[in-house]
Amino acid sequence: MRTTTGWRATGPTALRRTSLERRDLRPDDIAVRVDHCGVCHTDLHALHDHDPHTDAPLVPGHEFTGVVTGTGPEVTAFSAGDRVAVGNIVDSCGACAMCEAGQENFCHSFPTLTYGGTDRRDGSTTLGGYSREYVVREAFAYPLPAGLDPAAAAPLMCAGVTVWEPLRSLGVGPGSRVAVAGLGGLGHLAVRMAVALGATTAVFSRTRDKRDDAHRLGAHDFVDSTDTRRTAAARDSFDVVVDTVSAPHDLAPYLRMVAMDGTLSLLGHLGPVTVEAMDLLVGRKRLSSAGSGGRPATAEMLRFCADHGIAADVEVLPSSQVDTALDRLRRNDVRYRFVLDMSDLD
Ligand SMILES: [Zn+2]
Ligand SMILES: [Zn+2]
Repeated sequence: MRTTTGWRATGPTALRRTSLERRDLRPDDIAVRVDHCGVCHTDLHALHDHDPHTDAPLVPGHEFTGVVTGTGPEVTAFSAGDRVAVGNIVDSCGACAMCEAGQENFCHSFPTLTYGGTDRRDGSTTLGGYSREYVVREAFAYPLPAGLDPAAAAPLMCAGVTVWEPLRSLGVGPGSRVAVAGLGGLGHLAVRMAVALGATTAVFSRTRDKRDDAHRLGAHDFVDSTDTRRTAAARDSFDVVVDTVSAPHDLAPYLRMVAMDGTLSLLGHLGPVTVEAMDLLVGRKRLSSAGSGGRPATAEMLRFCADHGIAADVEVLPSSQVDTALDRLRRNDVRYRFVLDMSDLD
């Protein structure tokens, strides 16, 4: 085994710096020195649900960038020194219809998650990117294109691909009308990507002082989502509504904004929802969701972002301030993503 250092959960709000074991490199593995790891809402949920006394060890972190430091003998895509990015899945069965379609994120036998997953070969629990080293199959690592800042690019690997997949699969392009509900980690990247794809893009947020940010990100319009007169006036106006609001909320106002044959894509709140069928019937509207991305879409997303200069707005903190990052994320006090600098783990 290889020994590294990382941040392991000791309670719902606490992590402790500790040494961690990584597996020895298998033939198709690469070792990655993790330089930057984003702090995702999923990390908060995982910590909240974790019982350090009974559960397998928890090391969060599933959107990171770094540098290849070692390669197994069968690795062909990477060499030591390459810049690399890893997202929230690190393996899949490779044989089911979803994997064959390049949608490893929907693998029928469930993709191996970057942390809290079960390794397909040795059954161990995967430990995430809040650490100085990660060992991953080369197939689930991606070259980090030149020109992308490694800190600002880290959140592309979860938040970014989560909004990229629905935008692409719903055919967003020049002439599309897109609304982004909620301007946070997911939403701010959805705005940048939709604008770069050529869509006319509006932001709906209840935080009025995000108006300037919305326009800086490229949005053509900003609507205070608590203004019922404005939201009602947006009826049937958008081909795609990307709903990134993470708290449970009423979908009806957003469904009414969807144009005929358009889609509401629910990405932020993944629990039970209530839908009035009439809100779908009138205008043949669709309700959809998506999560993460397959390997082809992830690679495409990184190239697109490099070509268009898209990355996250990040606040970089030394990894020793992980508790601060989690605490502020819990209070939505970040514009728009925390990224941990792992170099203090040396
Ligand atoms: Zn995530
Ligand atoms: Zn599969």
